[in-house]
Amino acid sequence: MMTQVFDTPEKLYRALPSMDGLLAMASLQPLLQRYGKTAFKQALNQMLAAARAQIAASQQLPEWLSIDAEIFEYLADHLQASHRHSLQPVWNLTGTILHTNLGRSQQSEAAIAAVASVMRYPTPLEFELEAGKRGHRDNTVSELIHRLTGADACCVVNNNAAAVLLMLSAVAAGKEVIVSRGELVEIGGAFRIPDIMRQAGCTLVEVGTTNRTHLRDYEAAITENTGAIMKVHTSNYHISGFTAAVDEASLAKLCHARGLPLLSDLGSGALTDMRRFGLKQEPTPQAMLADGVDLVSFSGDKLLGGPQSGLIVGKQLLINQLQRHPLKRALRCDKLILAALEATLRHYLNPETLDQQLPIMAKFARTEGELQSQAQRFITALAAVYAPAYQLQSITCHTQVGSGSQPDTFLPSVALAFSATNGGSILALERHFKTATRPVIGRIANDQLLLDLRGADDFDELLTDLQTLGAAL
Ligand SMILES: *Cc1c(COP(=O)(O)O)cnc(C)c1O
Repeated sequence: MMTQVFDTPEKLYRALPSMDGLLAMASLQPLLQRYGKTAFKQALNQMLAAARAQIAASQQLPEWLSIDAEIFEYLADHLQASHRHSLQPVWNLTGTILHTNLGRSQQSEAAIAAVASVMRYPTPLEFELEAGKRGHRDNTVSELIHRLTGADACCVVNNNAAAVLLMLSAVAAGKEVIVSRGELVEIGGAFRIPDIMRQAGCTLVEVGTTNRTHLRDYEAAITENTGAIMKVHTSNYHISGFTAAVDEASLAKLCHARGLPLLSDLGSGALTDMRRFGLKQEPTPQAMLADGVDLVSFSGDKLLGGPQSGLIVGKQLLINQLQRHPLKRALRCDKLILAALEATLRHYLNPETLDQQLPIMAKFARTEGELQSQAQRFITALAAVYAPAYQLQSITCHTQVGSGSQPDTFLPSVALAFSATNGGSILALERHFKTATRPVIGRIANDQLLLDLRGADDFDELLTDLQTLGAAL
């Protein structure tokens, strides 16, 4: 090879294999079969361009070009990388269960099957089979919502941000909406109550103070221009100390005496008592409606455990107003979402099996002891695979709910903690984990890479993946 240093570039370029020669190479035929001619030729062109660039840079024919097996590997890696789906599965071992950047709620097998079915076959999305006439798409879930929350009616849109926008636009556009200063929240990604109000054409009227708001504050702010009073769940922060907020029942009395609707942006919208997991009790839509709130909005992919969606539940007349609003047409959900949402809500009819059926609940329900014994099993199986560059131990840690829900509540959990020892590097290990067929995503703390086991889907599969990753170090 050294002699090639003295070859002229022209001679080197001529020495490159030809396109036809490469296309005919027996060892490359499996790649041609698998990816098709177009993609295969693109990869060959890309490879030849890289080889030319290397000749230009070093006046040398790349060594790997003379080895068939290396050409195969180059092309196989390239084709595999360019055919990898962006929305591939990953392991969420970050310690945040509802991780917005990792797609929030994982869904039940029933929801997955329901989505596959409506993707494959026509379905009566807006058709009443018995009456043989046109129906409404939100009817897929309205009966279930009624059974689960007692709501007269519901309206389903793309997410809770859309739900709040639609609720305000349809009920109070051009009017004043009264909100406590303690509830002017910003949710991640530019959802801020004052901005949404403006977007909906409402005038925000702030009352009370950051830490204390009283019924008389709301009462004094009501004018003939008031369109609604709104409560906002302070999902992602918590005010403690000398505080006061007005409960929904008292506000509902005030609103109804003045002929005003009471709206509530509930955020995560848990339908069941989260205390069974050691989490805090969340206000439920059914409790809000029982307290007299007229419309309650919440997310479908937070503590509900369903697809990204926003639900608005409550009084029939107001829901009709929402359904007729032009924004509803722009914000409506498609059949995939409605199918997944219906399947998710059905699980709630059988509370006894809910925690097994809904993946997020199954993860919340794991005990520290169970995670501890999994961690021991992992360490026994993996210690030698990762030695000597990395050392493994199990440490206790805390899992967060995520998605802005319950920011100051944590579930005790157990993490596999990797430390770098002989020549290892935690940053390199973190990168290596992300190159897996199913990337493993943990978090770095105190120079250790932590994999919070509460987030694992299947422990045996995770163990196999970590063995493969360790062997490829
Ligand atoms: C999460 C949240 C939202 C936004 O909901 P998305 O479903 O993410 O659009 C709005 N309001 C509150 C109080 C929330 O917690």
